[in-house]
Amino acid sequence: MTTDTQAPRRLTVLGSTGSIGQNTLDVIAHLGGRAAFEVKALTGNGNVALLAEQARATGASLAVTASDAHYIALKEALSGSGIAVAAGRNGLMEAAEMDSDWVMAAIVGTAGLAPTLTAARRGADIALANKECLVSAGDLFVTAVRKGGGRLLPVDSEHNAIFQVLEENQRHALERVIITASGGPFRTFSLDEMADVTVETARAHPNWSMGLKISIDSASMFNKALEMIEARHLFDLTPEQIEVVVHPQSVVHSMVGYADGSVLAQLGAPDMRTAIGYALSYPRRSHLPVERLDFTRLSRLDFEVPDEQRFPALRLARLAMTRGGVQGAVLNGAKEMALEAFIDGRTGFLTMARVAETVMDRLAHLPAATTMDDVFAADEEARRLATGLLN
Ligand code: NDP
Repeated sequence: MTTDTQAPRRLTVLGSTGSIGQNTLDVIAHLGGRAAFEVKALTGNGNVALLAEQARATGASLAVTASDAHYIALKEALSGSGIAVAAGRNGLMEAAEMDSDWVMAAIVGTAGLAPTLTAARRGADIALANKECLVSAGDLFVTAVRKGGGRLLPVDSEHNAIFQVLEENQRHALERVIITASGGPFRTFSLDEMADVTVETARAHPNWSMGLKISIDSASMFNKALEMIEARHLFDLTPEQIEVVVHPQSVVHSMVGYADGSVLAQLGAPDMRTAIGYALSYPRRSHLPVERLDFTRLSRLDFEVPDEQRFPALRLARLAMTRGGVQGAVLNGAKEMALEAFIDGRTGFLTMARVAETVMDRLAHLPAATTMDDVFAADEEARRLATGLLN
């Protein structure tokens, strides 16, 4: 299977060892591998063995671990391969600066912000999985992409779905986007039952196979909250134009509603390779080895109103959008600290939203960011306050 391009496209995968990163390399292999693509740089963090294996398999020019402590191990694992090795923050920047045409932004959390921004500024097409870029630094990030001249290609399945069905020439008639949410493993739990859930039950997503943090964020619906803010910036929407509906089967990935009453939806099996492949092949579609929907076997498609009392993260997203400024960065920074505390067993599942809301209220006075330093300062302050509340 090959793509239609003549010269190999030059690619970089930031976060190649993660769930999205591995799926990306799988799609690349399926769409022609080395014959069709030249991998310039791959980055990981702690999973050095996998990073080295990926770098050798793809013939990457550069492999980077974000952790200085893993530099020697990576260097040894790649000795004799001719693949350059780097580490730490500077190493990530070096990967982002490599002259690739297309960059998959799949580092988890705020750590992905600086390298993705660097790649956007030099004009690469950005396949965006790292939603934190838009949640924390929406306006600045979108402006950087626009100035750089590359395209912003959403990989989050919901945003990729909207991207597929949002007709730019019908922008005047766009009324709303409807983001679907599976409801996660606790969709039917009472508040009392949710108070005692463990990391193991929270990470067990009913439909999607994803990294640990996003799986738990899906269970708390913080993931959906971040996606609401992400959609606002990606598609230039007002908060009122963004609806969320719980759809337990995860077959309808999201929808766009127009002024004539039409609703366009994108459907598919829950497999991130569809969104990744779409972003890689855009504006064409390629053959992908994903399950095909069999409508005769779909017994039903359910849709429910989300319960914001049990899932307050959704309300916090609206609050962040209404307040504006750096509230997205504050919400995300506080949430990341609370999530780490939950993963480490230092706090309960429901406490995460309470901590995020308290931190947002305390930092509601912060002005809008005019530079990335303002974003990083708000993020840092939110983390500091959240840590205080969690101790
Ligand atoms: P994973 O946790 O599976 O992978 C994260 C990647 O980031 C790994 O390569 C990891 O390296 C690397 N990493 C971890 N910490 C750091 C750090 N401090 N600095 C640099 N790199 C780091 O995450 P996912 O693939 O699930 O998610 C990636 C992003 O995509 C997230 O923003 C998520 O919200 C988003 N997303 C994910 C979806 C999914 O299906 N998984 C769907 C939609 C969006 P290592 O493994 O070597 O430690």
